[in-house]
Amino acid sequence: MSSAVEKAREVDVVIVGAGFGGMYALYKLRNSGLNLAVIEAGSDVGGTWYWNRYPGARCDVPSIEYSYSFSDELQQEWNWTEIMAAQPEILSYANHVADRFDLRKDITFDTRVTAAHFQEADQRWLVTTDSGERISARFCIMATGCLSVPNTPEITGQEDFQGPIYHTGRWPAEGVDFTGIRVGLIGTGSSGVQSVPVLAEQAQHLTVFQRTPNYTMPAGNAPLSEEFIARAKQDYPEIRQQQRASQVGIVGYGFGFGGIAGMEEATNSILETTEEQRAAALEAKGFAAIRDYADIQIDPQANELGCEMYRQQVRRIVDDPDTAEGLLPRDYPLGCKRPVIDIGYYEAFNRDNVTLVDLRKGGIERITATGVATEQGDFEFDALVYATGFDAMTGALLSMDIQGRDNQRLSEHWQAGPKTYLGLQMSGFPNLFTITGPGSPSVLSNMLVSIEQHVDWIADCINYLDQQGLKTIEALPEAESEWVEHVNAVAEGTMFTAPSCNSWYLGANIPGKPRIFMPYVGGVGEYRRRCDEIADNGYQGFALG
Ligand code: FAD
Ligand code: NAP
Repeated sequence: MSSAVEKAREVDVVIVGAGFGGMYALYKLRNSGLNLAVIEAGSDVGGTWYWNRYPGARCDVPSIEYSYSFSDELQQEWNWTEIMAAQPEILSYANHVADRFDLRKDITFDTRVTAAHFQEADQRWLVTTDSGERISARFCIMATGCLSVPNTPEITGQEDFQGPIYHTGRWPAEGVDFTGIRVGLIGTGSSGVQSVPVLAEQAQHLTVFQRTPNYTMPAGNAPLSEEFIARAKQDYPEIRQQQRASQVGIVGYGFGFGGIAGMEEATNSILETTEEQRAAALEAKGFAAIRDYADIQIDPQANELGCEMYRQQVRRIVDDPDTAEGLLPRDYPLGCKRPVIDIGYYEAFNRDNVTLVDLRKGGIERITATGVATEQGDFEFDALVYATGFDAMTGALLSMDIQGRDNQRLSEHWQAGPKTYLGLQMSGFPNLFTITGPGSPSVLSNMLVSIEQHVDWIADCINYLDQQGLKTIEALPEAESEWVEHVNAVAEGTMFTAPSCNSWYLGANIPGKPRIFMPYVGGVGEYRRRCDEIADNGYQGFALG
C-alpha cells in the first residue's frame, strides 16, 4: 500500500469530469499556472452531450447563451445554426473548445475516479482511479455533473428481454437505426418527451409507457439567420452581463431559468382573470399564455387555474379524447419540476404508429422476452428505450468513496440529504470543491453561466490562498447549516416543494433518497452577489489554514 502511495502522481489540482465544468476549470486553472490532472470516465470531452446522444436530444435554452463567455474570440468565431442546438452541434462545440485550447493533453479519458481521501499528514487529496492510478493533489474539483448517473429502474424480467435495451443517458456513439422495428419507451420526462417525435418518425411502431404525464411547452426552435447571429455577437457583452445578473425568481410557470438574458418576469395574476379571458389568452397564444401569470408558482389556487388552461390546450391538440385524457397531468402542480420543452410531442400521439400506455390505469408488472406485461395487458416490441432519468445532483459524488477529515465519508455527511456551503464545499472536506453542487442555482439555471461562475470563484479562491501562503480552505459547520436553512427557506411556499411534487430536484425519483430540495432558488444574480461578498470579506464562513 505504501509503495502505491509513493507512486502517486503529484499535481496542484485534480479535476474529475471533462464536461463543460471540467473543461473550463482546466482552461482557467492552467492559465493560473497550476499543474493539473483531469480524469474523465468517457472517451472524450462534452459530458452530458457526450453521453446523451438519443434521437431528439437538444438544449432547452438558446444556444447563443448556452455557450462559454470566457473567450470573446471563441464566441465570435463559433456559429450556432438553431435557436436551440441539437446534441451533435453542442458536442461539436465542446470538441472545438477542446481543440482550440488544447485541453486534451491534460485529460485522462476512459478512466473513472473511484475514491478521494483527504490525507491529514500532508493536507492533500489522494485520488484513486479504476485504472489503479493514484494522484496526490492540493485541491480536488468535482466537476462530475448533476445529471451524469443514469437511473435504470429495476423492473423484474429485464434480463429476459430478447432485443436491445438502451438508456437515453448512455446512448451508443454510433447511433441506433430504428427503421422498421417496434420500439417501447419508458419515461416521459425531458428525455422521453424529446425522443418521442423523432422515434415516432423512425420506428414502425412506438409504444410510450407513461407513469406520470409531464407539463411540456413548445420549444419554439428555428434556424438562426446570419443577421441574428451577427447582432448577437455584437450584443454579447450586454447578453453576458444580463445572464450573470439574472434572477431565477418566481415568475409564473416560466419561472425564469436563471442565467438567461432578457427573461421577462411575469406580472399578471391568473386569479384576477375570468374564464373568458383565459380562453381568449389560450386562443391567442396557446401554451405560452400560461407563462404570463406570476401567481401560478406560489398560489395553489392560481396553479390549478393554470393547470386547467394547460389541460384545455392538450385536448385541443390531441385528436383522440382517450389519449388526450391519458396525457393530462393531474395531482401535481405546474412548475414543480424542471420545465420540459418539446418539438411536436403531443402531435406525435396523433400518428397511427404511436400508442400511449397510461400506467396510471395499471402499472408495469414485468419485462418479458418480447415486451412489457402490465396490469392492463401485454405490449410487444423489438427494442426498449429507458428515458428514466438520473440520480441527480448527488449521484455522481456519492458513487465515489469520498472521505474527508477523520475519514468521514461524504455518504455519512449527507445521510439525511446533501449539506453544503454555497453548493461549493462541504464542512470536513477541506480543499474539495463541487461545480454546480447542491445548494447552488445549478440545474435551475442556464448551467454554462453557473459553471463559469463557480470555476471563476474557485480559481480566485486558490489564487488568494497561494498569495496569502495558506494551505487549506474549509467550510465551517455553522456556515454550512445556515446556508442549508437559507436554501430551504427560499424554496418554501413555492410549487417546487409542494407536498404533491415528486421531482428529481427533491430526490423523489430515486427510491430511498432523502427528500430535500437541492438547488438554490434565490436567483443566479443574488447568489453571485453573495459568493462575491463572502470572498471579499476574506472568505467568511470558511476556515483558512
Ligand atoms: P457533465 O456534462 O455531466 O459532465 C460530468 C462529467 O464527469 C461526465 O462526462 C462524466 O463522465 C464525468 N464523471 C462523473 N463521475 C466521474 C468519475 N467518478 N470519474 C471520472 N469521470 C466522472 N443544462 C442547461 O443549462 N441547458 C440545457 O439545455 C440542458 N440540457 C440538458 C440535456 C440533457 C439531456 C441533460 C442530461 C442535461 C442537460 N442540461 C442542460 C444539464 C447539463 O448537464 C449541463 O448543462 C452541463 O452540460 C453540465 O456540465 P458538467 O460538466 O457540470 O457535467
Ligand atoms: P426525468 O425527468 O427524471 O424523467 C424520467 C421519466 O422516467 C419520468 O417520466 C419517470 O416517471 C419515468 N420513470 C422512471 N422510473 C420509471 C419506472 N420504473 N416505470 C415507469 N416510468 C419510470 O429524466 P429525464 O427525462 O432524463 O430528464 C432529467 C433532466 O435532464 C431534465 O429535467 C433536464 O434538467 C435534463 N434534460 C434536459 C433536456 C433538454 O430539454 N435540454 C433533455 C433531457 C434532459 P415518474 O415521473 O412517474 O417518476
